[in-house]
Amino acid sequence: MAKLLGRAMAKMYIETFGCQMNEADSQYIADRALSIGYEIATKPEDAHVLLLNTCTVRDNAERRAYGRMGHLKELKDRDPSIRLVVMGCLAEQDRDRMQRIAPHVDAVFGTKELVELGDQLERWHGDFDGIDFSDERALLMPFGGSADAVIDAFSHLRAFVTVQRGCSYYCSFCIVPHVRGRFDHRPMAEIVGEVEERLAQGAREVMLVGQTVNAWKDPATGEDFGDLCAAVAALPGLERLTFISPHPKDFTEKIIADLARIPKLNPRLHLPLQSGSDPILRRMNRKYTMADFAHKVELIHRYLPGWAITTDIIVGFPGESDEDFERTLAYVETQVFANAFTFIYSIRRGTPAANWEQVPAAVASERYKRLLDAQNAAVRAYHDAKIGTTVRCLIQGLSKKDPTRLAAKTLDNVTVIAPLPSDYPRGDVDAGHPYAATPWIDVELETAHVWGCTGTAVRRAERFADAGRTLERPIVDLLAR
Ligand code: SF4
Repeated sequence: MAKLLGRAMAKMYIETFGCQMNEADSQYIADRALSIGYEIATKPEDAHVLLLNTCTVRDNAERRAYGRMGHLKELKDRDPSIRLVVMGCLAEQDRDRMQRIAPHVDAVFGTKELVELGDQLERWHGDFDGIDFSDERALLMPFGGSADAVIDAFSHLRAFVTVQRGCSYYCSFCIVPHVRGRFDHRPMAEIVGEVEERLAQGAREVMLVGQTVNAWKDPATGEDFGDLCAAVAALPGLERLTFISPHPKDFTEKIIADLARIPKLNPRLHLPLQSGSDPILRRMNRKYTMADFAHKVELIHRYLPGWAITTDIIVGFPGESDEDFERTLAYVETQVFANAFTFIYSIRRGTPAANWEQVPAAVASERYKRLLDAQNAAVRAYHDAKIGTTVRCLIQGLSKKDPTRLAAKTLDNVTVIAPLPSDYPRGDVDAGHPYAATPWIDVELETAHVWGCTGTAVRRAERFADAGRTLERPIVDLLAR
């Protein structure tokens, strides 16, 4: 096989499953790897180190992670010099089991061992440095990525900044406190310093990440999440601010009023309901009642009118009766939620609810279907109300289903599909392209669906707050007329 002359660069591929905590951890590792001298590969078959950042929030996530380890074994079988590393919640939970089930995994790093993983990459880098990684690495059949790869054309504009690790709430269905530990809040000065660094590196949008992000408090001063958002939003260069994932209990009136004074916030709030019935909320150890939840919704409507409220709902939680479910369904039918992540309860080893009597699978599936129908009707109504308006969106890239169209997200996170503007490249945008630096576009919305809206791109802005300049009609659009 032909050998390339000279030194090839060690490459690392990162695949992330699960929540934004994992996204933030992957970004930390990617930054660390880049600073050591790795390149980030977009395909596993191009890389020398493969990193799976795993999730264990549901059984399905766990099975997908093990499935992926199985796929990647084929790469290691062809080239034993490749290192396969697993990190994240599953790594923390299954450290010993993983070594038995997937002995080809070279290293396992738990959720509190990011620094150690970075150190290990540094040690390995010496092994790869100067080795010829030429075309023998290319496989006939590409593996692709089944979860989110850490780098895309627009990822340099987004920064995840972790404000807090762990959670002390111990919801009875959740594994997080068991694998990530109790609350550990970072000081405000440290967080603001990291955001400043990210902005200096070119980020325009910052997402503050924490398992229960709005429970954040400065360990020394007691300043709360509203104070933190205000301090971050005041930094020059920041265009948009988002955060994930809040807990309903921690939204005080003061925090909601603080958020209302920050125009840089995206107008959407995630408020995980989980169940609409008090007895189930108690069993879940959610620390609020339906009356409390409805009060938070009322505060949001009052202080943040027009913001989208999204949620998470679990059906078939142990002990959920028909009456409990009907209460959840009735609340969803009020169409309070612009979107919802709905799940059938799945047993998580090591949590209290795993030992309780389970709802029969057929009953849970039937409830799930009814809930989904009700929520889909709410989502569709939310999208219908946007038709005829022009919305500012952040481009995500080409539509996966139709590469002659663009996929973008509105500020309230609705997917928008539009024909490519005439100045958009026929293919993926690379990092140097003007669209990669200025991905704001105004789209006139024409058709609503449950998954989002379609429309026509009419203007393009250099920065979020710019007035924008008119685009030529897209070629595809002109041909269609
Ligand atoms: S609040 Fe509950 S669901 Fe959220 S991370 Fe903490 S224990 Fe898990």
